[in-house]
Amino acid sequence: MSDQNCIFCRIAAGEIPSATLFEDEKFRVILDVGPAAKGHTLILPKKHYANIMEMPPELVGEAFRLAKKAAEKQAEVLGCDGVNVLQNNGEAAGQTVFHFHIHVIPRFKGDKVSVGWKPGTLSDADKEELIQSLSL
Ligand code: AMP
Ligand code: ZN
Repeated sequence: MSDQNCIFCRIAAGEIPSATLFEDEKFRVILDVGPAAKGHTLILPKKHYANIMEMPPELVGEAFRLAKKAAEKQAEVLGCDGVNVLQNNGEAAGQTVFHFHIHVIPRFKGDKVSVGWKPGTLSDADKEELIQSLSL
């Protein structure tokens, strides 16, 4: 999927209007229309990649560099106490728009924004297995 079928391709290309905070030849940075918190920002590459696994590593690096800038700006201007930088890949992981994007969400102490999970336990058996299978 890309271009006409993908809403983020169309937003990134400027075909659909968006609240744009930054644009260059590779990226558009916009405000999320359904913000988790005031200032919730999305980093969109202009080229279509469904997820982080499909994207060239250098471009992933550039996208996260922009996320860092957005986080710094939020901290400076909004005075937030923290920032979540997060990124969903696949429906099972909560992705709803299948064009790579990074969320940058300002956080305040005591806010009701939820991005958490209930911690499990790392068993010794899992640890041994995963050190073998997932080492990079
Ligand atoms: P995800 O669930 O990680 O795929 O996030 C998709 C995000 O895109 C959600 O936070 C939506 O609120 C946001 N979104 C969907 N459509 C638009 C749009 N037209 N403009 C800006 N943000 C959008
Ligand atoms: Zn797209």
